[in-house]
Amino acid sequence: MDDSVQSDDSSGLATRLHSVQDSIADAARSAGRDPSELTTIVVTKFHPAGLIRELHALGVRDFGENRHQEARDKAEATSDLELDWHFVGQLQSKKARQVRAYADVIHSLDRPSVVDALRSDDGAVECFVQLNLTDDPGRGGVADAELESLTERILETAGIRLLGVMAVAPLEAAPRRAFSQVRAASERVMALAPEARFISAGMSADFADAIAEGATHLRIGTAITGNRPVAG
Ligand SMILES: *Cc1c(COP(=O)(O)O)cnc(C)c1O
Repeated sequence: MDDSVQSDDSSGLATRLHSVQDSIADAARSAGRDPSELTTIVVTKFHPAGLIRELHALGVRDFGENRHQEARDKAEATSDLELDWHFVGQLQSKKARQVRAYADVIHSLDRPSVVDALRSDDGAVECFVQLNLTDDPGRGGVADAELESLTERILETAGIRLLGVMAVAPLEAAPRRAFSQVRAASERVMALAPEARFISAGMSADFADAIAEGATHLRIGTAITGNRPVAG
């Protein structure tokens, strides 16, 4: 027994974090990959900034949020910490420049108007082009048929550094199959931009399948944070 004064909650957090990290390393090794090539982003949406501090104390440096105001408020509240913010939610063109002000990486470029809004002559923001794996345009992501044209537009735009492809596996499909589509999309993007070799894919329920299909950036929420508080 150790006599540390951790609350049950924070020791639960450490346990979940370490267990997910172990599963990620296992999935990487079974895919013949080096776990150190993977970036794990902890998605903290709906959780208070205090959780970000606890995770930072446990060594986490990459955090994800999906709503602009919440993301901005938490980035402000934790501005004394050294960490990287990943914006993973749907992005409106009128909010894009504001997101750019605090986000280190934007995972959700999915339309020309958002790309144009991010144009800048001072410094580049790292971005993923998001692919929609469903037929529902409301889900976010560019339609498969428009992947190349959007990629070209991104490559022509000053102030954006394209990292690769992002996607969310649809609930109704087998994740491994969905992620193999993402891998194929990644190859199409790399044909236009060989350096854009990263893949943002894999969440709490499906990260092992994503790793098997080449994901480099995992976006993991509840498996680490526990259930999200109910949001208004
Ligand atoms: C919430 C969210 C995640 C994390 O989801 P979990 O199932 O909690 O791991 C990942 N990606 C995006 C885009 C999200 O909105």
